[in-house]
Amino acid sequence: MADLAQFPDDWQTALVLVAHPDDPEYGMAAAVHHWTSAGKRVVYGLATSGEAGIEGMAPEQCGPLREGEQRASAAEVGVDEVEFWGFPDSEVFNTPELRAKVAETITRIGPDIVLSTFGGPEWAPGFPNQRDHMEFAAAVRDAYAALPEPKPKQLFENGPRVTHAVAVSQADIDAAVRSLAEHREYLRVLDPDTPVGRQAFKQVEMTTPARDDFGGRRAVGFELVS
Ligand SMILES: [Zn+2]
Repeated sequence: MADLAQFPDDWQTALVLVAHPDDPEYGMAAAVHHWTSAGKRVVYGLATSGEAGIEGMAPEQCGPLREGEQRASAAEVGVDEVEFWGFPDSEVFNTPELRAKVAETITRIGPDIVLSTFGGPEWAPGFPNQRDHMEFAAAVRDAYAALPEPKPKQLFENGPRVTHAVAVSQADIDAAVRSLAEHREYLRVLDPDTPVGRQAFKQVEMTTPARDDFGGRRAVGFELVS
C-alpha cells in the first residue's frame, strides 16, 4: 500500500464549500480544528440552510434553526465566517446560478485552497451519495475550472477517495465531536434512540481513522481533484 501524501500546509486561507449544514462536521471538522489552531483562516460557504432536513419540521422554522446549529458547530472548530447562499435544500443542481455563486464566493474570499464535498456516486458499495452532494460538487469543479488565473492553488474533496491526509490530535478529534454535536435538533430527530453526543462520537471516530497508509496516525483524508 502506497503512503498517502501529506496534506499541504503552505497556505493561510481555506474555503470550505458544501451543500448543507452538517456536511463539514460529518467529514472534516477535526482537520479544520487542526488548521484554525495553527492560526489559519477557514471560511464555510453553504449552498442551502438545510431547511428540508428535519422530518416533521416546516422549512421556515427549520432553516433558521439549522443555520444557528451550523454557526455554533463552526465556532467549536474555530470558524466564525459562515455564509448561507439560500439555494433550496434537496433541490441543488449544477446550474449557471450555482456555479456563478461558487465563483463569486471564491473570488471574494480569495482562498489559497478550496475544500469541497464528495461528488462521487457511492460512499461505499451499497451506500449511495445524495444527489444534492453530487450536483453541488460538480458545480464547484466546473466553477473552479472556469476561474481565471490567479485562482486557488488546489481543489480537494472530502470523501472516501483519499490522496492526501492531515494528521489530527485528540484535541482536534474532541473538538470535532463537540462540533457535530451542536447539530442537536437535527441529530435528535435523525436518530432518537442514540444520544446526540454518542452519534457525534461514532461519526468522528469513523472519519478520523488510524491509517496504515499514513504511519498509523489518525488522520482526515482528502482527494486532490485539481
Ligand atoms: Zn449534506
